[in-house]
Amino acid sequence: MEKKDLEWGKLGFGYIETDYRFVSNYKDGAWDEGTLTKDSQVVISECAAVLQYAQTIFEGMKAYTTKDGRIVTFRPDLNAERMISSAKRLEMPVYPKEKFIDAVCQTIKANAAYVPPYGSGATLYVRPYMFGSNAVIGVKPADEYQFRVFVTPVGPYFKGGIKPLTICVSDFDRAAPHGTGNIKAGLNYAMSMHPYIECHKKGYDENMYLDPATRTKVEETGGANFLFVTKDGKLVTPKSDSILPSITRRSLVYVAQAYLGLEVEEREVFVDELGEFAECGLCGTAAVISPVGKIVLHDKEIALPSGMNEMGPTTKKLYETLTGIQMGTIKAPEGWIYEVC
Ligand SMILES: *Cc1c(COP(=O)(O)O)cnc(C)c1O
Repeated sequence: MEKKDLEWGKLGFGYIETDYRFVSNYKDGAWDEGTLTKDSQVVISECAAVLQYAQTIFEGMKAYTTKDGRIVTFRPDLNAERMISSAKRLEMPVYPKEKFIDAVCQTIKANAAYVPPYGSGATLYVRPYMFGSNAVIGVKPADEYQFRVFVTPVGPYFKGGIKPLTICVSDFDRAAPHGTGNIKAGLNYAMSMHPYIECHKKGYDENMYLDPATRTKVEETGGANFLFVTKDGKLVTPKSDSILPSITRRSLVYVAQAYLGLEVEEREVFVDELGEFAECGLCGTAAVISPVGKIVLHDKEIALPSGMNEMGPTTKKLYETLTGIQMGTIKAPEGWIYEVC
């Protein structure tokens, strides 16, 4: 297979159309077989449930070329399970786990020419998603749905080196208690656009959302979970029912314990204790971990001891171990790596 002639190292995080995508339709209570297609356009009713009432959910994952030239993906079973819980919350049909994994693997394999080579720093981003496709005007769940998977090559996240982020505590809330903060749905992102733009206007990189009930506890950013490292080297990650269960975060917690021998606390993290941490990072599929150098709380600035020039030492070890597992240079725990081709 000949790779596409792309400048892998120069790619950003944007959409590049690839050759194939997977499409399956749900109608009369059942999913069809699903198929790969070259058609990148979606044609639906002007009154489709997704367009009127945002009945849509998605996943995000990656495919990598390992050092020995295999194409692999990371823990797709967890993405499948998370999509099932998202579907249930929005009264959408479940796309079965085995079919999800198969659709993801088929799509990656069909676009193998777009999977960036080992060592380029680039990866193939995989986007499974599902939406209500038939016309719905009175408020109720759709009867017909479309499940799709497309892929797009994305560049190295830290182009030109690692630059720690400045985060600001948002006055907006991300997710209500007992709301939809724990599912991966477009609606959670639509409402984050305004706070995100406001935060950028003030010169910050990301918002830190607090728990809406008391506004004293750390939740997450618009699209990544928080990790903190204490001065005595413990990993701390916020526990809340309204944050999205990041697969990267759950994997890093395991890596911290099983590979690095760190103690891990999953617990409520109070804004008042932010000044006591040694390191802070954001974790998600896109960057694995982005270090945070500074947290701004209204007129108060908290500078993390790890500074604005590099990742803190523990964050760096976590980052290197997990990316090593994903790229095949460090032995993975049983069942984490799925070989696509
Ligand atoms: C997708 C997402 C994450 C990161 O999850 P990963 O599975 O690690 O990619 C974190 N927070 C939110 C709100 C998300 O949508």
